[in-house]
Amino acid sequence: MTETHSISTALVLFSGGQDSATCLAWALDRFARVETIGFAYGQRHAVELDSRAKLIDGMKAIDPAWAAKIGDSHTLDIPTLSAISETALTRDVAIEMGADGLPNTFVPGRNLVFLTFAAALAYRRGITDIVGGMCETDYSGYPDCRDDTIKALNSALSLGMAKDFMLHTPLMWLDKAATWGLADQLGGEALTDLIREHSHTCYLGERGALHDWGYGCGKCPACELRAKGWREFRATAA
Ligand code: ZN
Repeated sequence: MTETHSISTALVLFSGGQDSATCLAWALDRFARVETIGFAYGQRHAVELDSRAKLIDGMKAIDPAWAAKIGDSHTLDIPTLSAISETALTRDVAIEMGADGLPNTFVPGRNLVFLTFAAALAYRRGITDIVGGMCETDYSGYPDCRDDTIKALNSALSLGMAKDFMLHTPLMWLDKAATWGLADQLGGEALTDLIREHSHTCYLGERGALHDWGYGCGKCPACELRAKGWREFRATAA
């Protein structure tokens, strides 16, 4: 956390969720310039993508230095990912994966695809630092979030594009409460308030009710995890 990259540009995988919003602030704290990339793949929580502009505007307002650093915001359309994860053909597979302890929200290889597209875009833009919110602590069921996977992909991307990429995963060993803590360190209450109100986590894409931890259905696994993390964070911060 002490290393700085004051002269380089980072590309942040930015979905508009809590984790990627915290990663964006982390990158703004460390890099001279920050670009973002989001993916549209027919996800139910497409509302996440609408949250991005509000979060970016909010971060610009929090710190003029951050405002000066925020560069282009990219969106890539990859509908093929939903074609793979939603066909009747793969539903049987999804049930088997459930028996293996993986939730059926798992989209096989999703983060491998995201990071590969991000690296391809980064290459074109002369960027080697890529930041993602992958985390082992709360999502250990997702093999493409694991540190070993990210390190292996880092090697593969660097070899395959003949470029020294560095994949940064600042949340890898943090639980949700610690992720709120990191946001608090980076931007204080202004940032935790912004993320709470405008970041989106709910799998069902629900924005109806505002809970103390933000908007969401309050019942899906993503909402439960977010609510639990927020309450733990508040308990330790009080
Ligand atoms: Zn939910």
